Amino acid sequence: MTQSAAIHPPARIAVIGLGNMGRPMAACLVHAGYQVVGFDTFAEARNKYVETGGTATATAVDAVHGAAAVITLLPDGKIVRAAIDGIKDRLKPGTVVIDMSSSAPMGTRTLGEELIAAGVAFIDAPVSGGVKRAIDGSLAIMAGGDGASIDRAEPVLKAMGKSIFRTGPLGSGHAAKALNNYVSAAGLAAAVEAVAIGGRFGIEPEVLVDVLNASTGRNNSTENKLKQFVIPEKYTTGFSLALMAKDIRTADELAHQIGVSAPLADEVAALWDAAMQELGPTADHVEIGRFLTAKH
Ligand code: NAD
Repeated sequence: MTQSAAIHPPARIAVIGLGNMGRPMAACLVHAGYQVVGFDTFAEARNKYVETGGTATATAVDAVHGAAAVITLLPDGKIVRAAIDGIKDRLKPGTVVIDMSSSAPMGTRTLGEELIAAGVAFIDAPVSGGVKRAIDGSLAIMAGGDGASIDRAEPVLKAMGKSIFRTGPLGSGHAAKALNNYVSAAGLAAAVEAVAIGGRFGIEPEVLVDVLNASTGRNNSTENKLKQFVIPEKYTTGFSLALMAKDIRTADELAHQIGVSAPLADEVAALWDAAMQELGPTADHVEIGRFLTAKH
């Protein structure tokens, strides 16, 4: 394979971070015919992946050995940088590093520029769709970086996602992802508040959700989260409140960094930070329902 060729199966791919998203996304790559080697600092995450038939190594350096692509699926951009710093000297020439975590875009730009200057290709390609769509390989993927590197990574991305958006230069995928989650979180919080207000007035929660879904208040949360998780108090989406709060904070910080006034993002970020402080880092993001309802 030349250094500019697209990465097709059975190329070797390292997946760093075998959490709620990393495990099913790695499984999609295996299903597509790639040789996938996973790594996670947390032995339990590695074991869970191995129990489902995956291959994992005890060190990141072993996982990236000979890899044509290295995918990171880690909690945030600072952790991604630390993980990449530990392996970047071990990558073979032509490796494409793909950060599919939801990282902060400014840090991504700096990290990407450093790697590219050192001869390593880098793109940001965060995802949306949650664990369910990670399992069936139908994620939305937002790819930022130079077109040639995205071309090379495209077969790999297509094994995990249904729609692949080219968002622009380095960091733009991460910016798009954070902005998406800001809108998603604002929509979820608004829907939860509406259901609580309606309930106090005597409208059954399910009835109000039906009204929203047939009307202009409809959003992803009214369709896929209210009746399924929030109203029955089933907190099992696999997307933590801490990660959602981080994403909204990322979007709000981006606004401040580039001098855009975003008063609603300021409020939504503060609200989700407060929920995280009260409910703790292991809470599921749909527990925002419990947090907001307790305030009524
Ligand atoms: P998770 O917490 O379930 O998994 C993260 C994993 O990274 C953990 O297993 C942890 O042990 C591991 N880890 C931490 N530091 C590490 C290191 N230095 N080296 C190797 N492994 C390390 O998180 P997740 O839900 O899988 O999310 C991963 C990323 O994807 C996050 O950035 C998140 O915001 C984003 N995301 C999550 C969802 C979702 O629905 N869960 C959806 C879209 C995007």
